[in-house]
Amino acid sequence: MNQNGADYEYIPATSVNSGAGTEVLPDIYCHTIQIVNICFVQDPETKSVVLIDAGMPKSADKIIAVTEERFGKNSRPKAIILTHGHFDHVGGLVDLVKHWNVPVYAHKLELPFLTGKKSYPEPDPSVEGGLVAKASSMFPNEPIDIGSSIVELPADGSVPEMPGCKWIHTPGHSPGHVSLYRESDRMLIAGDAFITVKQDSLYKVMVQEREIHGPPRYFTTDWEAAKKSVQTLEALKPAIAITGHGEPMYEEELSEGLKKLVKTFDQTAVPDFGRYVDGEQK
Ligand SMILES: [Zn+2]
Ligand SMILES: [Zn+2]
Repeated sequence: MNQNGADYEYIPATSVNSGAGTEVLPDIYCHTIQIVNICFVQDPETKSVVLIDAGMPKSADKIIAVTEERFGKNSRPKAIILTHGHFDHVGGLVDLVKHWNVPVYAHKLELPFLTGKKSYPEPDPSVEGGLVAKASSMFPNEPIDIGSSIVELPADGSVPEMPGCKWIHTPGHSPGHVSLYRESDRMLIAGDAFITVKQDSLYKVMVQEREIHGPPRYFTTDWEAAKKSVQTLEALKPAIAITGHGEPMYEEELSEGLKKLVKTFDQTAVPDFGRYVDGEQK
């Protein structure tokens, strides 16, 4: 296995937002890599930058270009924080770490997937859902290996290089999934704990139709935990949410959508059939 995992190939998937950037807040800049978002958070005082997640496989050059375009030639983030280690959130990571030589932080339960020790469960192409779910058998589940660049997130809940932010363990979609929350402006970076596009449907991914959904189905293995995580995030009453897939969402649309997701989670988020439903691994 190479550091990227033997099945890390370019995935020909896209959306209308691919290649587009959005300034969500003056200090937060999001960019869509094919079908997944990366996000830069800049400290208004020191101007240092943190990158959240690392895009699709083979996207390192693109991420470096976006970084330099936004923050200046040869600029680099102080650190990379991972919401989790799925292929579409760590696709550029091995090459980015080589280029930037910066620490990468993740939850301790996610470390085996980032150090070549453990594969995620196979994605479930049989899960109820649309074409993306069906095509998910081509998605890599192998671990990458960034060796000693990976650092466990501090146990006290603080997020390195992101003052005022704390990380919250939001498992279910993956064992060590975390969300990042900033109390001062109720800004939430939710990763894939919930998302604002129906990621299982190819059509909805391509047009990025806005609607709050539970985590992408093809990789989610613990629906009970996923539900609790959504409840935890809803209880924070975030004013802004940036998710791994889909567009940022604000205020009422967000609070109403989250409330509805919590209420209808068993019917709308949990698939009716699939390998990881009812906690059974068939
Ligand atoms: Zn994921
Ligand atoms: Zn994802």
